[in-house]
Amino acid sequence: MTDFFPEQAFAKEMDGHDPLAVYRGKFHMPKNTKGEDNIYFVGNSLGLQPTRAMEFIWEEMEMWKTSAADGHHSGKRPWVLYETTLSEKTARVVGANPSEVVVMNSLTVNLHFLMVSFYRPTKDRYKILMEEKAFPSDQYAVASQLRLHGFDPEDGMIEVCPKEGRSTICNEDIIETIQRDGDSIALILFGGVNYYTGQCFDMEKIAEAGRAQGCVVGFDLAHASGNIPLQLHDWDVDFATWCNYKYINAGPGSVASAFVHEKHSNHDHLPRLAGWWGHNRETRFKMPRQFDPIPGAEGWQVSNINVLSAAPLLASLNLFDEVGMNALRKKSFMLTGYLEYLLDEASTDGFTIISPRNPEYRGCQLSLQFGGNAKDIHKRLNEKGIICDYRKPGVIRVAPVPFYNSFMDVFNFVKELKKLL
Ligand SMILES: *Cc1c(COP(=O)(O)O)cnc(C)c1O
Repeated sequence: MTDFFPEQAFAKEMDGHDPLAVYRGKFHMPKNTKGEDNIYFVGNSLGLQPTRAMEFIWEEMEMWKTSAADGHHSGKRPWVLYETTLSEKTARVVGANPSEVVVMNSLTVNLHFLMVSFYRPTKDRYKILMEEKAFPSDQYAVASQLRLHGFDPEDGMIEVCPKEGRSTICNEDIIETIQRDGDSIALILFGGVNYYTGQCFDMEKIAEAGRAQGCVVGFDLAHASGNIPLQLHDWDVDFATWCNYKYINAGPGSVASAFVHEKHSNHDHLPRLAGWWGHNRETRFKMPRQFDPIPGAEGWQVSNINVLSAAPLLASLNLFDEVGMNALRKKSFMLTGYLEYLLDEASTDGFTIISPRNPEYRGCQLSLQFGGNAKDIHKRLNEKGIICDYRKPGVIRVAPVPFYNSFMDVFNFVKELKKLL
């Protein structure tokens, strides 16, 4: 790790040497009323718009305007194949084979569809293991799946908690829980990166421990994809899903993605809620009575893809292809490490960093726990054009994104924060 220094000149120098600095110009940075760039630290909530996103949407609008239904089969990117255009690029972001990923639906919808196939409870093995304080949507989805199968969520949901007085969960505690309760656990459904603390879980070890106990292992990668390098195929994860509007910058409510491991590609034994878009492409338009699923993740598609929502995703994935997750992670270590350094330097007792201190166990986000005044501080930061996010009780989440945030952003944020304290 590089040594960091507290002076502004250091931030300038880091930006000057940053090979990814040019990518800031490939996104639209929100501006204040004077037309100056804001400091945007909520890419963990909604990633910025790639400058080419509009062009990709526009092309489809033009296609629709000039060719209408012909757009399904002609043009640069025929709509019936739109999802496959995205698969290779998506696969590279999450460490999968192209046939293991598919762009479809939205995240929580995918969770349900995948749980229909991968949550197969029996009388003795029916529990679902999660992290405590998982994103509410995941908790609702899991509780409702348990009820659907006739189980009581109070009994069926096992949550791994942080140790007394800690804010993050010890990876060993997750593994121990799996080893202890494994034979009653049907499904392990963990986040890859926790939305609240920014903690990154050891997915490889969780998958390994789960497999050894005969559990199915799935991940919600909403805060992990595009944030940290993933190796879903090699880690032998059964399934995963993520939204594309956070670190993947595909726009509000954009179409999501799913991963199903190759070992399930012939999935004949798995139940599934089917739809025509998962059907064999050769015979799809012959409209046969019998459902014949496409091998691989695409077999889980139900409906045809929302092309206008997928178009900006393509603009963003092209940028991921240019840069690669390893280069992003490298800058991310530096940028978030620098933020941590300046916050520690500021060393007031106004807040504590509740995100993991080990960079391997976090993504780019740091969560700061304040005393009573977080809401007020958040408001004032906002007035200064520093966009970060407030969560009850008293947490401000700050996510410097390596694609478009700079070392000067981080410097200016801490400078303002110090003034407010
Ligand atoms: C953002 C997020 C969601 C959002 O779900 P949608 O179905 O896209 O609305 C779900 N789970 C986690 C962990 C998230 O961070």
